[in-house]
Formats: sequence, structure tokens, C-alpha cells
Amino acid sequence: MRRCPMSEPKPMREPQLLLCADMDRTVIPNGAQSEHSQARKQFAEFCSQPQVTLVYVTGRHQQLVKQAIKNYSLPWPRYAITDVGTKIYRIVDQQWQLLQAWENVIEKDWNGKSHGQIKALFDDISDLQPQESGKQNTHKLSYYVSLHVKQADLLSLMAQRVKEVGVQASLVWSVDEPKDIGLLDVLPENATKLHAIDFLRQQLGLLRDEVVFAGDSGNDLPVLGSAIPSVLVANAAEDVRESALRLTQRNGTHQALYLATGNNAHMNGNYSAGVLEGVCYFVPAFREQLKQSGFCCEQ
Ligand SMILES: [Mg+2]
Repeated sequence: MRRCPMSEPKPMREPQLLLCADMDRTVIPNGAQSEHSQARKQFAEFCSQPQVTLVYVTGRHQQLVKQAIKNYSLPWPRYAITDVGTKIYRIVDQQWQLLQAWENVIEKDWNGKSHGQIKALFDDISDLQPQESGKQNTHKLSYYVSLHVKQADLLSLMAQRVKEVGVQASLVWSVDEPKDIGLLDVLPENATKLHAIDFLRQQLGLLRDEVVFAGDSGNDLPVLGSAIPSVLVANAAEDVRESALRLTQRNGTHQALYLATGNNAHMNGNYSAGVLEGVCYFVPAFREQLKQSGFCCEQ
């Protein structure tokens, strides 16, 4: 009997996971809460499997990522999304290769302007103090700003200047609390953690449910509130938890957010234990394996 090719069963796809983790206070235990003594070891073991592609997604630049991997004995990732989403690197044998295709995507927002040309738009604004050269790159202008400055007026002046020259930029404001100073990044509009993760997923030909993101703080919120399966580690601050829940309600994505608690695992849900708890929750293909390795997660 001749069989219709359409009825051929599709070959089973091997379970795969693109595990995208923020660094500070997500896989790096540099917050106030305690880390379980076995958490990083289990996390590293889990990430060593060939089916798991580990990606660090961070505000840090390349050198600071390498330093954290060394200082905290973290597993080496296969990709790193650094500088708040403005750079994507493929890492092979600890060699970092810039993903030029991502540069090509985000540079459209700069409308042909160089870093220097955009910086020149703001040179007369005395409230802006450029950050160190290591914190600048082709697609990232970073400034220190006093917390006493009228933030709304400053941002609106800058937004007007970039608009006048056809540049589409995000102005990202954050606070360095220990140093008591404002941080202002001017980035291409599409150079965010969320866009960078989705770009990498598509480049690798993966489906959205083959991705898990983990984060803890404000600059992770766009991903935590998106349709990408995401886990908020248990050590996150209460206001971030509330903001993430609000965002998922607004976006209709509440099923894509998991709040780690430590209740579903043999660990406390903080840092990398929370990341693994999220994997247990979202990815049945890896749940059984994590149960067998002692990281139980009854759902
Ligand atoms: Mg963080």
C-alpha cells in the first residue's frame, strides 16, 4: 500500500533547553539571602548536559562576566548577552565570538549614527557625566547622573534630541544604591534583554517553550512579564515580585511566570536553586531527571 507522505510520523524532537539566566543575584549569590550549599554544584551539573544551552543575560560587559565566572566558579555559558542586551557572544572553548547579525539588527535604530555622533547630541548637558570607557560600546552610551537632577525634564530633553535626528533609542534609568548615584543608558530601542533572547532563540531554531529565563530585578521585568517562560528567584525583592505579577496580568502572560519559593524543591529557591526550580516547573522533559538527581520538584 502506498502511504501518503503527509501521514508519516514526524521524528521525535530531542528535548532541548535554552536556559537564559541573569547573573547578579540570580546565579551569583551576591544578595542578602543565603545560598544553599549544593545549589551552584547542582546548577553546574545540570548545565553540563549537551541538551542544555546556557546563556548569561546581564548588564555586565565581557570582562566582568569572565571575572564573575572565575570568582564564583560558575559554569561557562555557550552564549552571553551582555551590556544590557547590546552585545551577543557565542563562546567556544572560552573564546568569545561577537554575533554580528545582532549588531546589524540593532544598528538600524541608530539611523547610521556612530556612538560619537550620538554622544555629541548631549555634550552640552552638564548633568550628564560619561561613565568609564569600559562601560561604553558602539550601541551603548552610559552616564552618571546626580539623584538630585529633575529626571523627567532631563529624559524629555534627551528624547527630543535623538528624535530630531531619527534615532530610535531607549533611555534606561536605574540607581546604583550603594554609590547613591543615578545611571542612565542610551540604547537602541530594540537592544533589550527580551529582544536579544528572542533573536537568539530564533537564530538557534528553537521554540518559545524550549526557553526558560531566570531573573531577579528591575531590568529583568520585560522578560519576566513576556510570553517567554520565566522564573523569578525567591531572593527577589517584594516590589519586583509585585511588578512582575502586575505586568503578566496586563500582558495576559501569567502562565509564563513562575515564582520560586523553595517549596517544590529540596533547596530554598534562592539564586541558582530558584533557576532549577523554574526548569522543573516549565520543562517536564527535565523534571524527572532533576528528581532523580535529588532536586525533587513535585508539582
Ligand atoms: Mg540581577
